[in-house]
Amino acid sequence: MIPLAKKSLGQNFLTDKPMIGKIMEAVSPKKESIILEIGPGRGALTLPLLESGCRLSCIELDRVLAEHWRSREALYPGFRCIEGDAVKLDWSPYLPCDICVGNIPYHISRPLMYKFFSYRRAIKEAVIMVQKEFAEKLLASPGDKAYGIVSVLTQCFCDPRYLFSVPPSVFSPPPKVTSACVRLTFKRTDTENDALLIRLVQTAFAQRRKVLTNSLKEFYDKDANDRELWLKRADGLRPEEYLALTREIAARS
Ligand code: SAM
Repeated sequence: MIPLAKKSLGQNFLTDKPMIGKIMEAVSPKKESIILEIGPGRGALTLPLLESGCRLSCIELDRVLAEHWRSREALYPGFRCIEGDAVKLDWSPYLPCDICVGNIPYHISRPLMYKFFSYRRAIKEAVIMVQKEFAEKLLASPGDKAYGIVSVLTQCFCDPRYLFSVPPSVFSPPPKVTSACVRLTFKRTDTENDALLIRLVQTAFAQRRKVLTNSLKEFYDKDANDRELWLKRADGLRPEEYLALTREIAARS
């Protein structure tokens, strides 16, 4: 018997075959691909992934669904399902991977982005379904209302691309909001200053209306290279300017 969808776990299952086909086209799994799926649920994406012959690891929080997939591990070589919370779990045993796939519950979109940032050198790309507003945040630029911490960090650590919108009608039960399919191509650049960059961006946006000389007092040096940059506000700085500031501060310490 199929258990009822659990709202607390964000269980809106994809049921529309053409939409599933469109998402799989975006993922484009190959036999040699190593893939990590977050939240396989009832298998809308998991089954076509397995049919491609790829090596697939899944992380599922729902005990009953995880058990269902574990009982099928022997049917597909290179397939495993881990029961656990993808936000808390250490992903290193399932990495490196080529693609991370997920029709992600809306309430864990943000913490999962931080998870992606921390593992970005071990994942080539992610194809994820998120709430449309969240997708817009990932792609927002200075001057957009949606521009914030997650926009800056996403664009510093990845090249994000909005692929297509996903209407509520393709899910069961249908969510109240429109979703979007997004591709994140991870940048493999230096990770040495990641923690500093994250702290800098979070601190700046905590007082987003103040100029950086005030909001980032603890990082400011009056002999700073680029005075003009320091006189901007958090939401006026482009991601590459945050990277430049981070490099400047790191070089000083
Ligand atoms: N992939 C399936 C589909 O597209 O139909 C299910 C998508 S449903 C939106 C989200 C899935 O993620 C559910 O199976 C849910 O149980 C699972 N899930 C929720 N929170 C999770 C977490 N923290 N870690 C891992 N899986 C989670």
